[in-house]
Amino acid sequence: MKYYILFGPPGAGKGTQATAMAEKFNLCHISTGELLRAEIKAGTELGRQAAALINDGKLVPDRVVEAMIAGKFNSVKDVDGFLLDGFPRTLDQAEALDEMLEEEGEEVTAVVSIMIPDETIVRRIQGRAAIEGRADDADLSVIEHRIETYHAQTEPLIAYYQAQDKYRQVDGTGTVEQVREEIFKIL
Ligand code: AMP
Repeated sequence: MKYYILFGPPGAGKGTQATAMAEKFNLCHISTGELLRAEIKAGTELGRQAAALINDGKLVPDRVVEAMIAGKFNSVKDVDGFLLDGFPRTLDQAEALDEMLEEEGEEVTAVVSIMIPDETIVRRIQGRAAIEGRADDADLSVIEHRIETYHAQTEPLIAYYQAQDKYRQVDGTGTVEQVREEIFKIL
């Protein structure tokens, strides 16, 4: 099984690229953000607790998202691998993922990082706010808090995966097609 991680700051275009990657390589696309938004929409207790954090630009507790990922790994069949989008986002999550995979005799195949500068993040997220209607995209202070959260908690994962020689980066400022080409070359 392949286990790809799609990495990058919010607004880098992970969701957009994930769809094409999953289709071409027969991967199950797992977006923890989408799973959490589905819980919110369904009005579950988990969704209620997650909404308060998400709408404040904070991360949901590690154990919650780790359990979501484990559940998907155990239930999805008939794919050549998984494409993790928005997970892991902390070192704890990265270590939990390594442990989960090790138990199955598997490991992370590669980390594909789509990189854009902070100024572009704000512009991109504000642009999609009207299209996707996400509450956490609408407010500038929430966007800024998400960028801070990314730098503080998620960026350290770059060094974590570089140390394992699994980190590959593409320039995310090009067109959707250009970025897709770059990613396909890596895969
Ligand atoms: P995303 O759709 O990936 O931008 O995620 C939207 C929001 O969901 C994030 O800002 C976090 O609040 C939460 N979230 C998504 N994935 C994770 C994760 N792996 N760990 C913690 N919180 C997450």
